[in-house]
Amino acid sequence: MSGTTATTQAAAVPARVFWTALAVVGALLLLTYLVAFDNGAVSQSGMLLHELMHDGRHLLGVPCH
Ligand SMILES: [Zn+2]
Repeated sequence: MSGTTATTQAAAVPARVFWTALAVVGALLLLTYLVAFDNGAVSQSGMLLHELMHDGRHLLGVPCH
């Protein structure tokens, strides 16, 4: 009997889980941007965020000074 085919069906992800995961990923990307690249350009905070995140920048290996 060679007519059997294995069909795989992706499990449905509940919308609440999808949107929560998307929000978490977005928040982490925003945090990464603020820590590593902003330098006051978008946040208009001058060097405040840079100084607050300074140790984190070095921990992540972001060029700093
Ligand atoms: Zn530094």
